Amino acid sequence: MRLAEIEAAAAETALDIFGLFDCSGDPDLPEFARRLLLLGPREPGFWAHVTDSPEFRDSAPDPLDRWSRRVVTELAEGFGGTAVFPFGGPPYAPFQRWALASGRAWPSPVGLLVHDRAGLWVSYRGALALPFEMDLPGPGARPCDTCAGRPCLTACPVSALTSAGYDLDRCHDHLDGPGQATCMSRGCDVRRSCPAGGEYGRVEAQSAFHMRHFHR
Ligand code: SF4
Ligand code: SF4
Repeated sequence: MRLAEIEAAAAETALDIFGLFDCSGDPDLPEFARRLLLLGPREPGFWAHVTDSPEFRDSAPDPLDRWSRRVVTELAEGFGGTAVFPFGGPPYAPFQRWALASGRAWPSPVGLLVHDRAGLWVSYRGALALPFEMDLPGPGARPCDTCAGRPCLTACPVSALTSAGYDLDRCHDHLDGPGQATCMSRGCDVRRSCPAGGEYGRVEAQSAFHMRHFHR
């Protein structure tokens, strides 16, 4: 029942539950924490929702992080917990470790995390460290296990992101040239290639926002 309440409250702010696990004893969380609930963009509709917020109407930097801090903090406090965020460091909270612990995200063949709902578009806007127990869902289905073509491995036009790793210099060089018209405006071709995120509904304007942050 509690989980349904939290899910409904998150949905009102265009957030979705991206994972839930028993975090008792986690050294990076308050001692009271019993469940960590990971939150990501709820699609479709996330970008239209956040860009209509006060944070996107003022001229201050980092509107998405400021929006996340406000709404995730309100959610956490509403359920008697504490909010934690993947930004604002260093030090940074170990969201990669927590994503793996959730049973709904895994390392992909190109090294990025892949999520059962969002594919390679996975991102976390924050998490709720909650002081009570809730029944845990079963693990998700790892999409790579049934992905015959594995298009992520060959999607980058300059082979900057492959099973050999991420060559950031090569990626940024491409973004200064032909990648202006492709990756910069619609998002990384590798992330776009993943069929697991094909039904997720993320809009290109959101990807362009993140690419401007990545390549500046
Ligand atoms: S394209 Fe296929 S193999 Fe690559 S991350 Fe997505 S599901 Fe996994
Ligand atoms: S942003 Fe473009 S150049 Fe960079 S890794 Fe992705 S596909 Fe390759």
